[in-house]
Amino acid sequence: MKIKVDFDLCESNALCEAMAPEVFELDDDDYLQLKTEETTDENIANVKRAVAACPRAAISLED
Ligand code: SF4
Repeated sequence: MKIKVDFDLCESNALCEAMAPEVFELDDDDYLQLKTEETTDENIANVKRAVAACPRAAISLED
């Protein structure tokens, strides 16, 4: 699945990075960067935790 982030909604609170640091990372300017846009068998559980943790509902998964 593809990992999508609505950057207009994101408030850079790093909750997704806490749940899935292998996918989400805030850069030095506090902008969220995606290390990958693809889910894998290894990261999918953490990505789903990040989706659930985002208070802005900014992260979604698409087929
Ligand atoms: S948890 Fe949501 S609001 Fe927070 S940095 Fe990640 S995408 Fe942005």
